[in-house]
Formats: sequence, C-alpha cells, structure tokens
Amino acid sequence: MVRTENLSKRYKRKWAIKDITLEFKEGEIIGIMGPNGSGKTTFIKSILGLVIPTYGKIWVNGVDIGKSTHYKRDIGYMAQIPRFPENLTPTDLLRLVRDIYGDGKVKDYEYYIEKLSLNEFMNMPIKALSGGTKQKVSAFLCFSIDAKLYILDEPTASLDPYTSLILKEEILRKKEKGATVIISTHIIPTVEGLVDKLVYLLEGKVKFFGSVSRLKEITSQNSLERAIAKLNHVEGF
Ligand code: ADP
Ligand code: MG
Repeated sequence: MVRTENLSKRYKRKWAIKDITLEFKEGEIIGIMGPNGSGKTTFIKSILGLVIPTYGKIWVNGVDIGKSTHYKRDIGYMAQIPRFPENLTPTDLLRLVRDIYGDGKVKDYEYYIEKLSLNEFMNMPIKALSGGTKQKVSAFLCFSIDAKLYILDEPTASLDPYTSLILKEEILRKKEKGATVIISTHIIPTVEGLVDKLVYLLEGKVKFFGSVSRLKEITSQNSLERAIAKLNHVEGF
C-alpha cells in the first residue's frame, strides 16, 4: 500500500529523515514512534505530498506520488497540530471536506459525531473549542472520509484516556474494512494491542521495523516501554 525507497529530507544542513526504505502492506496498522525531532512528522508529510523529499521515492497504492496528486483523494489525514480557520464551525469544515473530496467520499459522519460526542460543538466556531475538542474534530473529519489509507500524526496527544480508547477502536474498525492506517505516537497504550508493525525512528533513521513482539524478543524485554528504552540507549539494534 505504501512503499518508500531511500526517502530523505534535508532542512538546511540537517537531515530530518535519511534513507528510509520501508513497505507497509494493505490492511496493516503501522505505528511510528521515536523521540521528538526524530522525523515522524517529516516522514508522514512526505507520504502526503506536503513535504518534498530531497531525494528518494514514494509509492502509494502502486502510484509514484512524484508523478500524480490524485492519490491524495484516497487518504484521510489527521495533522499533529490542526490548523482550521478559527471562525468556521465543525459543520462548515465538514462541508469543506465534502467539497474537496467529493460527495461520495464523505460517509458515516453522523456515526463519528456520536462516537466522539461532538454534537454540542458542531455549530460552535473552532476558536471557542478546547485543544482536545479540536483534536476530536480533526479525528472526526479524518474518519468521515471513506479512504484506503488513514494517516494520523500523534492523534492521542491531547485526548483524554476515554477518547483515546475510542480512537483506537475506530482505527481497528477501519482496519476491519480493509484500510491501512499509519499512526505516529509517543504513547505506549496507544500502540499496544493496536499496531501490526512498529517503525522506530531515531535521528531520522529507521532503528527498528517489525512487530511489537519481535521488538520485545530482540531486546529481551517484556514491556514495550523498556524495549523502547533499550532501542534508544543501546547500540547494535
Ligand atoms: P517529529 O515529528 O518526530 O517530532 P519532525 O519530523 O517534526 O520530528 O522533525 C524532524 C527534524 O526536522 C527536527 O530536527 C526538526 O527541527 C526538523 N524540521 C522539521 N520541519 C522543519 C522545517 N520546516 N524547517 C526546518 N527544520 C525542520
Ligand atoms: Mg511530529
């Protein structure tokens, strides 16, 4: 579903990501972890075509994204920091998304309003909403798109544990429908019991790619937290 080859991005003299070669299969949930500044957002934005790689290639659903922009219609995206026009309401935003993606692409939005308890906020301007509620609006818009690929950049960062759990359930529901999901996060409970494969980035490079159980095995740790600590501090992984 997504393949990258030597994907690299340099900002001035610093490489944000370097030689990332990975392949994610259809229907997989991929977790992207790594410390702040390790390149998670740059990697994600490259797949979305929002960051132009310095070199390297990306294919989404077999399409070289350097050659076409049409593939974006099959992606639902939740940004790390949602930037919505402050005077618009979630209802306005839904209308905008429908205009951009096309009518048939926006489905199940009533289900997500209910699930994310957004009813009372639908007609309030974005500027009146709390950070957590804005993040819920962002999740709502992302999931309402009937996509083959969902990309979520730290979706649970400012969500309460209950909403995080709902988000996790909804990600699993998308997977059941055959979608591929890429999710970056720092939060261990978000990853456990959810992801099929984990990418661990350190200073822009892939330090680990594989299942959570494989990571625990090679680090000889039972807890994901400790396995990750080992990845960070021990050479040779
Ligand atoms: P993460 O999402 O893992 O926190 P980022 O991809 O945001 O990491 O950032 C990776 C590195 O690239 C960081 O060192 C960051 O400062 C740098 N970086 C990201 N975006 C830009 C930019 N637009 N201009 C300059 N440097 C950037
Ligand atoms: Mg980030």
